[in-house]
Amino acid sequence: MTVKRYDAVVVGGGGAGLRTAIEIARDPSLKVAVVSKVYPTRSHTGAAQGGMNAALGNVVPDDSPEAHAYDTIKGSDFLADQDAVFFMTENAPEIIYELDRWGVPFSRLEDGRIAQRPFGGASFPRTVYAADKTGHVLLHTLFEQALSKDNIDFYNEFFLLDLIHDGERVKGVSIYDIKNGEVLTLQTKAVVLATGGFARIYWFRSTNAIGNTGDGQAVALRNGIPLKDIEFIQFHPTGLAKTGILLSEACRGEGGYLVNRLGERFMKRYAPEKMELAPRDMVSRAIEYEIMEGRGVGEGARAYIYLDLRHLGEEKIRERLPQVRQLAIDFEGVDPVKDLVPIRPTAHYCMGGVHVTDYRTSETPMRGLYAIGECACVSVHGANRLGGNSLIELLVFGKFGGMAVREFVKNSDYAEISEGEAKSGEEFIERLFKREGKENLAQVRAQMGEITWAKMGIFRDEKSLKEAYEDLSELLERWENIPVVDKTRVFNTNLIELLELRNMLELARAVAWGALHRKESRGGHSREDYPDRDDENFLKHSLVYYDNGSLKIEYIPVRITKYQPAERKY
Ligand SMILES: Cc1cc2nc3c(=O)[nH]c(=O)nc-3n(C[C@H](O)[C@H](O)[C@H](O)COP(=O)(O)OP(=O)(O)OC[C@H]3O[C@@H](n4cnc5c(N)ncnc54)[C@H](O)[C@@H]3O)c2cc1C
Repeated sequence: MTVKRYDAVVVGGGGAGLRTAIEIARDPSLKVAVVSKVYPTRSHTGAAQGGMNAALGNVVPDDSPEAHAYDTIKGSDFLADQDAVFFMTENAPEIIYELDRWGVPFSRLEDGRIAQRPFGGASFPRTVYAADKTGHVLLHTLFEQALSKDNIDFYNEFFLLDLIHDGERVKGVSIYDIKNGEVLTLQTKAVVLATGGFARIYWFRSTNAIGNTGDGQAVALRNGIPLKDIEFIQFHPTGLAKTGILLSEACRGEGGYLVNRLGERFMKRYAPEKMELAPRDMVSRAIEYEIMEGRGVGEGARAYIYLDLRHLGEEKIRERLPQVRQLAIDFEGVDPVKDLVPIRPTAHYCMGGVHVTDYRTSETPMRGLYAIGECACVSVHGANRLGGNSLIELLVFGKFGGMAVREFVKNSDYAEISEGEAKSGEEFIERLFKREGKENLAQVRAQMGEITWAKMGIFRDEKSLKEAYEDLSELLERWENIPVVDKTRVFNTNLIELLELRNMLELARAVAWGALHRKESRGGHSREDYPDRDDENFLKHSLVYYDNGSLKIEYIPVRITKYQPAERKY
């Protein structure tokens, strides 16, 4: 049993984790650990294509942080906390210039300034980008910066098992070394959860990396920390039909059309002004309505409509959308330069996450525990996130959260970790290895994917959500009877998938619980039995948490500082 000590432990080596770690490590007297279950540059941030939003005003000088804030709040269906949104949009431009100095190779305008492209729900071209590989270049640049700090230690391919805490403050983490099966305890004053999203609970159809299983959120939930607005899942309109792999919103930003089987640009029926550049929740529903009404190609779960990029021309597609083109060729067998691309909405992003109680610090209800990035809910996205607002969120809150952690650890001490606490991780793993049972991991996971897609997907109602909750509870019981078939400790992916499945099941059930109680339609949460937004009863954040082993729900107010809720029209 090994115990090591760090002033701060950041769990997650994606954009959020790295940006936070860089900021904490600015004080050379502090020792920081970054724990990541995959090698950091394999984190899902690297898959981001389209770009990130900041009101630089490089293309249209009229743009401003205020306009960015308004678009974000309207896009959120008025569920975002407005002070937090302003904090993000006001700090966004400086963050971009900092990245520019750190070496991110942004695409440029003719005069050398950073280029900006139109994105869904935005009043101006505001999204800065590097072709359609923005996340890739961002992640590598952040990793270089983090590597240059002598006081950051990387725990690559280590899996977070649990938090160690005394109910009030965090004392450490228990982590599993995937390479050799050893369990380590890191004693620390502060833990930052930056474990990304969990849209993989939609195993049937998702844009997310296989590892986006919400491990940090599930650990928080099991330890009594609430998850905020967890019912809000974003479905991205343009997933490739066969696989759900993402084709960036940049396709529509650059002028792509959505057409049905009849060749009609159907968005004119749903968002006459913004057309294809309406926010994602609306466009996804519009596609599903077209399919339901028989104007899609094929039927049922495999039906699709088309993305048409042909009129953009080969040169523009090669220059601005090279990855999109390659994905369409490799995974759908069509070339967007000359063919229509079959697409269908796909699970993409989690607006909800670990309850952050103060946007300036990113702290959670547990002292010394912070949450940043997609794993957190600040909330700046409310019920629907605008494209390009996630990357900027993780950078802004990573920076300021990192500053807050730095101050916190300078003024606090380590708490004792008992021998029993230090051993608990290893004992848990041993129990799993000894477990017997007849259930099959892949089958339980596939069933989860069917339930989430069919019963708590783009459209939901009371009956489907109740069923989802019950079905998922049953799967959680069955999880207890899935054995670890592979008994070795070296790179045991069987064990890791088992741990991830438990986390996904727990989160999926929390989504069903939150969704069941929200009797309205808002943003990404669309109830067929309550089709309207209900500000009187539901203009509030939900908090889902465990109390004595069962899920509970509470609500807290939304902070409205400037814009009163209005009907969303595009
Ligand atoms: C295909 C795709 C395209 C996107 N495009 C855009 C875009 O153009 N613009 C935009 O703003 N947003 C985009 N998004 C959303 C955005 O990329 C993500 O929300 C964001 O990158 C999440 O960053 P993160 O650091 O929070 O998490 P991630 O980048 O997912 O990193 C999570 C980290 O946590 C670690 N981790 C997880 N579990 C454990 C565990 N148990 N133990 C140890 N470590 C763990 C992982 O190893 C990883 O390092 C896109 C998302 C997808 C899926």
